[in-house]
Amino acid sequence: MSVDVTGRCLCGAVAFRAKAATHDVSVCHCGMCRRWTGGPLMYIDVEGTPSFAGRDAIGIYRSSDTGERGFCKNCGSVLFWKVAGAERYALTAGSLDAAEGLTFTKEIFIEDKPPFYDFANATEKLYGSDAMAVYTGTGDEPK
Ligand SMILES: [Zn+2]
Ligand SMILES: [Zn+2]
Repeated sequence: MSVDVTGRCLCGAVAFRAKAATHDVSVCHCGMCRRWTGGPLMYIDVEGTPSFAGRDAIGIYRSSDTGERGFCKNCGSVLFWKVAGAERYALTAGSLDAAEGLTFTKEIFIEDKPPFYDFANATEKLYGSDAMAVYTGTGDEPK
C-alpha cells in the first residue's frame, strides 16, 4: 500500500508532496551523506518525481557520477538525494511533516559507519555497492 507524504524545509520556502511505496525509512552511513547532513542520512524512497512548491529555492549539488543532492538555498535544509539524470528520489525523513507509520528498516553503506554510534533498531544492513546497484538499475530490489 503506498503512502502519501508531505514535507518542507526549515524556513518553509520549499515544500513537497510525494508517494512512497512503503513506510520504510532507511539510513545511509556513507562519508558524503555524513558530511552533507552532519550525521547519518535518514530517508524514504519515493515513486517518481515529488511535486515541489518553491522550486526556485532548491539548490542542487552534484556529489558524484550517480547522485545529486537537493537543499534549500535559503535555510540550508537537506531535502533529497536523487539518481543523477533519472527521476528517482529519496527524501530526507527529517523533512517530513508526519512520521506516523514509518518504520526504520534498512541501513546502507554499513562499511562506512564510524564506530562512535550504532542504531538499536533491528535493520537489514547492506554494503554500499549492493545498495547503489538497486538505484542504478544493475541490481535487484532488496526484499
Ligand atoms: Zn528553507
Ligand atoms: Zn550516503
